[in-house]
Amino acid sequence: MDCIFCKIAAGQIPSRKVWEDARIFAFEDLHPAAPTHILLIPKQHISGLDAADGSHDELLGYLQRMAAHLARERRLAGGFRTVVNAGPDAGQSVFHLHVHLLGGRSLGWPPG
Ligand code: AMP
Repeated sequence: MDCIFCKIAAGQIPSRKVWEDARIFAFEDLHPAAPTHILLIPKQHISGLDAADGSHDELLGYLQRMAAHLARERRLAGGFRTVVNAGPDAGQSVFHLHVHLLGGRSLGWPPG
């Protein structure tokens, strides 16, 4: 599987790791869009949210809960946002499911 995020999770491509356990891997985004910009990915390859099925329900919930945990660790008391871009119209550029955790500045709404 020629997937850059699979390789990052496997340690084959360097990244600034924030968290790792048996199920997920989290690392700093290479091009941060906010003072905190972390990507959380499942170690299992899922191409995107549109490819998730019922067997992934627990994993999807875990990614969100761990995003909140990392937000607390970063002391994002003012708030934070999690984002999943799914498909070309949403700007998904890496086809391995990932949750963006953004914080550390005021985040506009609606997103672009
Ligand atoms: P998306 O547009 O939702 O698919 O987000 C992909 C994100 O991955 C972007 O914010 C990129 O900056 C980030 N990214 C791509 N390659 C790397 C990498 N090697 N290390 C860290 N972040 C990356």
